[in-house]
Amino acid sequence: MKKNIYVTQPFMPPLEEFIPYLSEIWESKWLTNAGPFHQQLERELAEYLGVEHLSLFTNGTIALVTALQSLRITGEVITTPYSFVATAHSLLWNNIKPVFVDIDPVSFNLDPEKIESAITTLTTAIMPVHCYGNPCEVERIQKIADAYGLRVIYDAAHAFGIRYKGESLLKHGDLSVLSFHATKVFNTFEGGAIVCPDAKTKQRIDYLKNFGFADEVTVVAPGINGKMNEVQAAFGLLQLRYIDSAISARQHVDERYRNGLADIAGISVFKSVTDSTQNYSYFPILVDDAYPMSRDALYQLLKDQGILSRRYFYPLISEMPMYRGLPSAAPGRLPVAKCISEHILCLPIYPDLSLSDQDRILDIIRGGR
Ligand SMILES: *Cc1c(COP(=O)(O)O)cnc(C)c1O
Repeated sequence: MKKNIYVTQPFMPPLEEFIPYLSEIWESKWLTNAGPFHQQLERELAEYLGVEHLSLFTNGTIALVTALQSLRITGEVITTPYSFVATAHSLLWNNIKPVFVDIDPVSFNLDPEKIESAITTLTTAIMPVHCYGNPCEVERIQKIADAYGLRVIYDAAHAFGIRYKGESLLKHGDLSVLSFHATKVFNTFEGGAIVCPDAKTKQRIDYLKNFGFADEVTVVAPGINGKMNEVQAAFGLLQLRYIDSAISARQHVDERYRNGLADIAGISVFKSVTDSTQNYSYFPILVDDAYPMSRDALYQLLKDQGILSRRYFYPLISEMPMYRGLPSAAPGRLPVAKCISEHILCLPIYPDLSLSDQDRILDIIRGGR
């Protein structure tokens, strides 16, 4: 039996290089609560990413929930239906009503053209997603936010290391939230972070991820336990040493797919925004009517041969039971997102994907074998 090929596989640095970190943790017995590795990873990540302040979290979802809480967001928030479900879940966890707005057919990001008509007196913020690490139209979104007095919180789970117009993409908006889940470009097994512009905001976020404790006896808010532990942070430090080579290995996979799929009728590959770097975290293709079989048939054909591509994002968040009753979730209002979600397929991409495995994938797509 051949081993399955998953859509992604975490990049694992050499195990022997992780042992010294573990020895230090064993020795110090400092396991969590802003330990030395946690502090070091916050510093090194802020420097690597080119941002001022960053607060580590145990995962991206708790970071999203806390980001909203830190800015006291209430009422309604405009967001995209074309994302991982945690984006909208973070709103429900704060008793906020998600208002879905359709996406742009080229970038698959929230369509700025359609944001204004979704704003009501209850709207307090916009939560866009940099889908596949492709930057949102950050300037246009900020203009709308400024005109209506709204906050902008980016779900930047896909946007690790992305630079836009020569600067970190994560500097846009009021806050950006990263995920370091095992399936992401940079991982700490589970993990995440909030990027924020000033020390005061970081302090509030740090309180909130530690139950709201401001000092030993003062609790300033109903915070949550969102702390990243020392083993996670240590793994992040080690991973960070290899991140550039991991991303460049992904780039090679990306280029081979692009060449291999260049002239197949009915298959189109996703294009990134100009002025932006890429992290090659996903390789999405669209399977349309000119291809001999449907998207789902191709998905199944690959699966039958042990190749587990993923339909990211299908179904839409707005089609899930806890959201589909919302007026903004009506399929007629989200035609672009609906169409993309029915034709999208993300192919396996990760640093260790072998040439022969990639060739097998390309052969199947080319020939329907
Ligand atoms: C992965 C992901 C999340 C959730 O992050 P976790 O670290 O798994 O909690 C949120 N939003 C998007 C767009 C994601 O891809």
